[in-house]
Amino acid sequence: MKEISKTVEALKPSGIRRFFDLANTMEGVISLGVGEPDFSTPWHVCEEAIQSMADGRTHYTANKGLLELREEIAKFHSEHYNQNYDPKTEILLTVGGSEAIDLSMRALLNPGDEVIVMDPNYVAYEPAIRLAGGVCVPIVLTRENEFKLKADDLKKAITDKTKAMIINYPSNPTGGVMTEADYREIVPIIQESGIYVVSDEIYAELSFDQAFASLSQFEEVRDQILVINGFSKAYAMTGWRLGYILANPTITKALTKIHQYVIMSASTPAQYAAIEALRNGYDDVILMREEYLNRRNLLVNSLNRMGLNTPMPHGTFYVFADIRPYGLSSEEFCNELLNQEKVACVPGDAFGPHGQGFIRISYAYSLNHIKEACVRIEHFLQQFK
Ligand code: PMP
Repeated sequence: MKEISKTVEALKPSGIRRFFDLANTMEGVISLGVGEPDFSTPWHVCEEAIQSMADGRTHYTANKGLLELREEIAKFHSEHYNQNYDPKTEILLTVGGSEAIDLSMRALLNPGDEVIVMDPNYVAYEPAIRLAGGVCVPIVLTRENEFKLKADDLKKAITDKTKAMIINYPSNPTGGVMTEADYREIVPIIQESGIYVVSDEIYAELSFDQAFASLSQFEEVRDQILVINGFSKAYAMTGWRLGYILANPTITKALTKIHQYVIMSASTPAQYAAIEALRNGYDDVILMREEYLNRRNLLVNSLNRMGLNTPMPHGTFYVFADIRPYGLSSEEFCNELLNQEKVACVPGDAFGPHGQGFIRISYAYSLNHIKEACVRIEHFLQQFK
């Protein structure tokens, strides 16, 4: 037999998966590892999907998705984030934010184009860049800068070959956010260089301490920005596989070309459910956000009290705890924590080499679950005193 694609052969398996496969072989493990809401999808949203199927609304939709849904998305983004997109030409429904990440790279890149990514950052970006023939150029984010993208670092990373950059705020895994003032610093650089920015805003609704901000709110670069969002996190709909991408009409046309051949259209029942989520689901979003906030406060306060130095994350449902003082690598720390106390977290370097020295802890779990995990973590830390 002939060999498979060299690009695929060279892709590393996700560091998150590798760790969970290990945790799953053990009994009594408490996980703080998973990156999805523990809540069930609100029932009125499920009911709408059931009703759509009972009514026989079970066919393909338009390639871009139901116009009715695109109109709801346009309205939501305009009202909540002051992002204004035309539902007919600037919105494409995708199979989760995940498909949108892949499409954006395939639509933008020629072989050899450089794409700036953050280190650490979400695990799906680099594979998407490589699969589209691009070259990753990392910018190192630091705890000292609250894991924000700084203008000087961006300037240094841009070359003649730079086609795009991928950012994700609120950020998985760091919980970092960028404010409007932070973005203002980098807008002139983006405008002058003409690069595209793929802005993965899937955690937009999980911004806790300040208003959510986006580069697409700056008119001067608006057409260079591709906004990715979706229903997985805000509405607890990970399994429905529905996301979307907002971009100028030329880009949306290019994205749709790929999408129409590879996917055709996103799941129809999921699209009807999403209409209901947007029309009547915002109270659910608020309730879940309040609960995440309680959990964040409990977790971060407990970790700091027991000596595990943890910056306060301003968004998402992750904390990025600083384990550098313990003298173990992230992998060693997580392995020991798992073996000794049966608590599963994710080593920070699963998100890039500069995640080394940190561990990602998810609080998409009940308060009781988090409390029990904290008892075990505190016990684990005693050996370092
Ligand atoms: N972007 C980020 C930053 C994520 O954390 C995730 C899910 N872990 C996704 C995109 C993909 O989400 P989905 O495909 O479920 O919309």
